[in-house]
Amino acid sequence: MSSDFSDYLNQELVAIGDLGLRRELRRIDSGQGARVVLDGHELLNFSSNDYLGLACHPALRTAAAKAVEEFGVGTGAARLISGSMRPHHELEEALADFKGTEKALSFATGYAAAGVVSAVVGKGDMVVVDKLAHACLVDAARLSGAKLRVFKHNDMGDLGRILQWADQQDGETLILTESVFSMDGDCASLAHLVELKERHGAWLLVDEAHATGLYGSSRRGMVEESGVGDHVEIQMGTLGKAIGSAGGYICGSRALIDLILNRARPFMFSTAPVPAQVAAARAGIELVQSDEGEERCGKLWGLVSRLSDGLIRRGWKLPAVSGAIFPLMVGEEKAAVALSRRLLETGVLVPAIRYPTVARGKARLRLTVSAAHEPADIDQLLEALGDA
Ligand SMILES: *Cc1c(COP(=O)(O)O)cnc(C)c1O
Repeated sequence: MSSDFSDYLNQELVAIGDLGLRRELRRIDSGQGARVVLDGHELLNFSSNDYLGLACHPALRTAAAKAVEEFGVGTGAARLISGSMRPHHELEEALADFKGTEKALSFATGYAAAGVVSAVVGKGDMVVVDKLAHACLVDAARLSGAKLRVFKHNDMGDLGRILQWADQQDGETLILTESVFSMDGDCASLAHLVELKERHGAWLLVDEAHATGLYGSSRRGMVEESGVGDHVEIQMGTLGKAIGSAGGYICGSRALIDLILNRARPFMFSTAPVPAQVAAARAGIELVQSDEGEERCGKLWGLVSRLSDGLIRRGWKLPAVSGAIFPLMVGEEKAAVALSRRLLETGVLVPAIRYPTVARGKARLRLTVSAAHEPADIDQLLEALGDA
């Protein structure tokens, strides 16, 4: 006998709440920037991945408005069905140029771009994924039907053992990692990963969601910074973080892109992203490569060191992070939420990150710095955080 549907839903919600894991939407009445307006109050925003402060940049706004003017609002269907519009092609040419790959393909979201995994591997193959890799990579691996193995975070010894096991199996092996980890802020050792995967004849996908626009001499990402561009089979990322718009991408060889077109279900069976989003992303990529992009990036790193010096001075223990993401470890879910709420009362928005985004008992505050911040904003944050 089935129970009443709404009783069932409410019981589930109560169970989530009892674990300190209940989530709610917070309505804001402003765009994304260094400050957001919530319930009529201006809050200092340390929650966004808009690392270069491009989400409301005039150049991106103008590009989006022009695209609406010329191409309208909707895209009608998936790109293989109703024609593939010029803004998408212009974005992909800009992406391939920026990343220095043969070709690029854009998706409606970064989450959807992970669909590349099931385009490349399937039943009988193996996917080996870093323990802390983003949910979209894990979900894509599951969807592919390949055997899934998880290696300990950044542990090349553990990965090496799994690759030795994979050597004994039939089928191909694809390794999945982020370059800068979204919730911990630390980096993969791409040079070691490349060495290992080449020794074992495996392939490598690197998700640059939190690195694109920020690292490397041309700000292409960690793949550029590590000098391994020619050795990474699949470069993936989002256009919704430092690039300032929305969407995802895959960069790689012509054959890779052609295969995705034919096999990646999130590409084939989803309406194309709207012209405004795509044109803004292209403007974001151009901006990242410009002198202004370099200045914004330089400003960001200055703010990052101001914050990290300040936190250390106040006795906060910082993990070995090297970027704009600062995880302040709390542990208990309810304690992290309470701390986040206390900060909110002082006018600072810092989200509590909990299971299932991170492991149970590893709740944290996750601070992100943006080039849209000013030094005084960092000082206000430090004041609000107080001593550890
Ligand atoms: C945000 C994120 C994604 C998903 O990108 P969206 O464009 O937000 O869908 C993928 N991978 C990582 C590591 C991310 O942090």
